[in-house]
Amino acid sequence: MSDHDETLCEIFEHSTIDEMRERVKDPKWICKGCGRAANKKEYLCEPVEL
Ligand SMILES: [Zn+2]
Repeated sequence: MSDHDETLCEIFEHSTIDEMRERVKDPKWICKGCGRAANKKEYLCEPVEL
């Protein structure tokens, strides 16, 4: 079984500045777990609406 449980918040850490910029632009969601903001909840591990 390979249920990978890497959070999408972790993906942010591997992203380039340009990718980050696209994902945090005009944020609608914030992660309760790590405090990151993003414009799609899919990018976050514990999204709550801003
Ligand atoms: Zn998170």
